[in-house]
Amino acid sequence: MQRGRLIDACVDLVLSRACAGCQVLGTTLCPNCWAAMAQQVGLHPMRTPWPVATGARYENLAKAAIIAHKEHGVRSLTAPLGTLLAGAIATLTRGPTLLVTIPPHRRSVQARGADTALLIAQRAARVLSRAHQPAQIQPLLRRGLDNGKHVGRTALQRQAAIDGAFQTRPEQIAKLKNFAGYRIIVVDDVITTGATTQEAVRTLAAAGVQVAGVAAVAGTPARW
Ligand SMILES: [Zn+2]
Repeated sequence: MQRGRLIDACVDLVLSRACAGCQVLGTTLCPNCWAAMAQQVGLHPMRTPWPVATGARYENLAKAAIIAHKEHGVRSLTAPLGTLLAGAIATLTRGPTLLVTIPPHRRSVQARGADTALLIAQRAARVLSRAHQPAQIQPLLRRGLDNGKHVGRTALQRQAAIDGAFQTRPEQIAKLKNFAGYRIIVVDDVITTGATTQEAVRTLAAAGVQVAGVAAVAGTPARW
């Protein structure tokens, strides 16, 4: 094993034994931190023509859990994060739902070994389906231009980078005729400026796909 990978593996081992929120040992998310996170679900005050809901605020606990899941590979957090996303989706609609995830950057998937947002969305779909709200992933989007990651960019720079970032997948859109009565929700792990999900909704609308809302595991405190 390469030295870097060995260190990564050790970090994973330590992180996977501590609560992502408060670092108490023995669990990746302790009951207290989970309870605090799970009561933050609700509509987000983003000014968009469609409703936006988040499972938690992207600060402290949820931020730590999402980063541990995304950047440190703590996959046991897929379940609680998926449950948070399911709560956000259920805030928007209680009927049958198709979830459209944001296509990841190829380099992110290579670095993380998985599309972590997709893992969370798949879990959310299972949570909803078990609660008698049929839900499944429908991959309507793929990446078009790949203008790199958003970290460190201003809202304006993000918007410029995201224009044209997605394309629809016609073969998937053709399948929508089999899902009469399903509402389409765009899902993501974190909403910050909202530029990414807005571009996803715009891309789908341009292909004649009506989106009922946007849901995320967590969102930054409102600044809109
Ligand atoms: Zn904790």
